[in-house]
Amino acid sequence: MLNPDIIPSVEPIIRVGVVLPEDNFKILSLTVPEKPDYFLMNASDEKFSLHAGDQIEVSYHNKVCALSINGKLTGIDNRWKVIPDDDIQMENKAGLKIQEVVSGRGFHWQKNIAVYVSGIVEISPLEDSLILVNELPIEEYLMCVATSEMGRECPRELIESQTITARSWMLANVEQKHVHQGFDVCNDDCCQRYQGTTHLSNQSIEGAMNTRGQVLMYKGDICDARYSKSCGGVMETFENIWEETPLDYMRPLPDAPQDFENPNLPLDSESKVRQWISSVPNTFCSPHAISEKELKKYLGSVDEEGSYFRWEFYFTQEKITRLMNKKLKLDADNILDIIPVKRGYSGRLTEIKILYLQKGNKKEFILKDQYFIRQAFHESFLYSSAFVIDKDDRKIPEYFELRGAGWGHGAGYCQIGAVGMALKGYATDEILYHYFPGSELKQIYK
Ligand SMILES: [Zn+2]
Ligand SMILES: [Zn+2]
Repeated sequence: MLNPDIIPSVEPIIRVGVVLPEDNFKILSLTVPEKPDYFLMNASDEKFSLHAGDQIEVSYHNKVCALSINGKLTGIDNRWKVIPDDDIQMENKAGLKIQEVVSGRGFHWQKNIAVYVSGIVEISPLEDSLILVNELPIEEYLMCVATSEMGRECPRELIESQTITARSWMLANVEQKHVHQGFDVCNDDCCQRYQGTTHLSNQSIEGAMNTRGQVLMYKGDICDARYSKSCGGVMETFENIWEETPLDYMRPLPDAPQDFENPNLPLDSESKVRQWISSVPNTFCSPHAISEKELKKYLGSVDEEGSYFRWEFYFTQEKITRLMNKKLKLDADNILDIIPVKRGYSGRLTEIKILYLQKGNKKEFILKDQYFIRQAFHESFLYSSAFVIDKDDRKIPEYFELRGAGWGHGAGYCQIGAVGMALKGYATDEILYHYFPGSELKQIYK
């Protein structure tokens, strides 16, 4: 496991949660590949040999796991490891095949997929189901993250800058969301999307090799380099998304060349936000830099197609009332108004007020945090909280329309903007210094 207090001087081994307690899996199936050789180890470090094509099945029984190979019970124990006996040649679909893994956990694109992983696989019981942890060198992990996060046709500068951002975030290791569960990160958007070697491409292998050990540093610390799909034209700041303490290298800059000018910036009034969202300014993440059609080949394989820079959602009175009652437990008869209270620099709402009728009485509900706002205004998750609200002027409006900008929290590295920059010919370090101004690229291990 990573130690957050140490800047590593050799390549660290990390632990990635691939099947989590909330997936509630009682059975897991693995297939042993042709190469290299693998062996099995129980909790008492006893070894069992495995052969190419072996089917391993682990099932949960009352806090322990029963493991069988090709249908024959091998043993019952509280931890099993499947370990390669030699180095794994990193290539597409290298390593063990895990039959079913949840991808897009909790989002509207959630689905189960088969995943191939290099490194060690460890299966154990946790909270009444099975968890699967993949233990591997961080550089192998990063090769896989680059292709899981983005499509395979991305320009080299995009893959390299994405890899350095992911490595920095990982090694800064500030969030520690899963340490109590015994791993460093999970395999999904909660941390970083990781689908093992399933979609591994030569470009992402090279992307990691060309940037091996390189991280962004700021005043002696590794940058807590965050990223999201699209900022919508202006980068959001750390303090408006996560914590009150600002990070100097995440600033509210336009995602555009330094000479970019726009009459609506800074977005410090509702009318400026409205005009900004109603227009399509020429930023790196806008369709001026990459058409939405072209964008599809640069995005990762599980993302839905659609419009991300500017988008809209339409709600009838009935639909919005049903949604608010479901998500916020309002018990409302009708929604009367949705009023912006606070916004970040990118126009992302961080606080809204909802006026509604409950058994004929007027009530209000305050909702804070861009994450909870996005969760409330969509059956699963709204693209971003940078939106303006339109309604008709009846006492009880018949409709509400949300028009918005961007996809994700918008702070730090903008993945679509980085595609735009790479296509315009910017170098890897130029892209990184644009999204993390004041930071410095440094190789911390060879
Ligand atoms: Zn996570
Ligand atoms: Zn952007």
